[in-house]
Amino acid sequence: CGIVGYIGTQDTKEILLQGLEKLEYRGYDSAGIAVVNGEGVRIFKEKGRIAALRDIVDYNTHGTVGIGHTRWATHGVPNRVNAHPHQSSSSRFTLVHNGVIENYEHLKRDFLSSHSFISDTDTEVIVQLVEKFVEEGLSVEEAFRKTLKNLKGSYAIALLDEENPDVIYVAKNKSPLLVGLGDGCNVVASDAMAMLQVTDTFVELMDEEIVVVMKDSLTIKDLDGNVVSREPFVVEIDV
Ligand code: GLU
Repeated sequence: CGIVGYIGTQDTKEILLQGLEKLEYRGYDSAGIAVVNGEGVRIFKEKGRIAALRDIVDYNTHGTVGIGHTRWATHGVPNRVNAHPHQSSSSRFTLVHNGVIENYEHLKRDFLSSHSFISDTDTEVIVQLVEKFVEEGLSVEEAFRKTLKNLKGSYAIALLDEENPDVIYVAKNKSPLLVGLGDGCNVVASDAMAMLQVTDTFVELMDEEIVVVMKDSLTIKDLDGNVVSREPFVVEIDV
């Protein structure tokens, strides 16, 4: 399983699909991508191999921001509905997640008892919580941090907000995740291998950190919103 993300100036579909192919070795049962274009967020997802996903992607969808996921199902059978990305009820927020949310049933009961869920995943609760906290008046970043503070378990997450497509929000706890610094773009990946086509310069994340990823900046913060500074490293691998 794995996550990729790209924000910049190039068309993102092929970057995401190639990135997911580089993560194939990690194992997966389904895959999906979300691309932001002029009309909003478009999602393509499918059970099976990345080749199956390629077959259903609309190649006329162009966008310079996107996220992608390979899933190794833990909650809910491998099928298209349970494949990531998942969206909030209003479809404003779109999210991919690797890991396991151990308390998702409690969170549904405590915060989301009036919500209906589309998938059987533990993941969907995350994106619904972000939307709920935004509707209650928090900024998206605050809502994201509040959501993460309520999660028990492991996660590597990338989140898109249709109303602000200049940002990808990411977070990590006990699942691998890196952010990468490109030329006029930035990337997100479970493994540097997935994004070496774009950059060889990455920043490591620690558990319970978020990153506000924009095309020309990366801001790492802890779950209380304090900015964390960390030097990038260069990956030396011949591709
Ligand atoms: N627990 C999530 C699911 O079953 C994510 C699995 C993964 O890490 O791919 O959908």
